[in-house]
Amino acid sequence: GYTSEDPAPTQYDSVQRFAEWGFKISPLMVRAKSVEELVAHYHLIEAQRSSLGYDIDGVVYKIDQLELQRRWGFVTGEPRWAIAHKFPAEQAMTTVLRIDIQVGRTGTLAPVARLAPVTVGGVVVENVTLHNEDYIKGLDSNGQPIRDGYDVRIGDTVVIQRAGDVIPQIVSVVIDKRPPDAVPYEFPHKCPICGSPATREINEKTGKEDSRRRCTGELICPAQAVEGLRHFVSRGAMDIEGLGAENIDLFFNAGLIKTAADIFTLRDHRPAVTKALAERREEQARQREAASGKTRKNVRSVEERNY
Ligand SMILES: [Zn+2]
Repeated sequence: GYTSEDPAPTQYDSVQRFAEWGFKISPLMVRAKSVEELVAHYHLIEAQRSSLGYDIDGVVYKIDQLELQRRWGFVTGEPRWAIAHKFPAEQAMTTVLRIDIQVGRTGTLAPVARLAPVTVGGVVVENVTLHNEDYIKGLDSNGQPIRDGYDVRIGDTVVIQRAGDVIPQIVSVVIDKRPPDAVPYEFPHKCPICGSPATREINEKTGKEDSRRRCTGELICPAQAVEGLRHFVSRGAMDIEGLGAENIDLFFNAGLIKTAADIFTLRDHRPAVTKALAERREEQARQREAASGKTRKNVRSVEERNY
């Protein structure tokens, strides 16, 4: 902020003045007189990190004299009088209980490892993405080894890490703890939802196999149905006016449309369609109300309204 004069000649004393004025200050801030003291305090805070009640990713060392801060200034936006010392990403060890395959709206088979729950960085982690078939085998998208080339097997002990708000990931497999009966994971070649073959497409430009396996069921695959219906009504296909992606989602979730053919019999379900639309308008109005803090007057029930 801006002050007409410094509250004190140093940053430390200025912050102490803030406390006198009633501001809440961090009790972890200290004045250090040597590099050894700085590093000692870094380790002290690191030890308390998980019990602080808020997330931190490191500490910042600063020159205390405000006059020196001004004289040293900034270079390419970075202060020359302050430097961050980050903590290493928090890691934890746990076991892989199961590997589940989720089918996305575009038919991609996405493997997820279900883990024995473990706390990492103050958050309980139970799932971690395994990305694709090659990742499970221990290969990156260029066919280069990751995790020292070890595959992930059900029953394996793995080290996971989570840095800041980053999604948890598997760092390594603890190979010494691998159960003797653990077998390499066999990635399904069939869609677990509809049973259609799941294949890896060849990229026409690069000639390389895609790392993701996809369900070939398309319209017959319930996991892909919504995406297929969205395409069906879109401008490039049937171009059905007034029936955009939003309404498709709404009618699909309400059970009114399961296949493209159901679109043409929607008029036979007029009361249900009207109800679904009214409920969404009501929900939108409620959200606007919550966002603006204003309440509406004379709200009629969904059934009483005419649209
Ligand atoms: Zn499928």
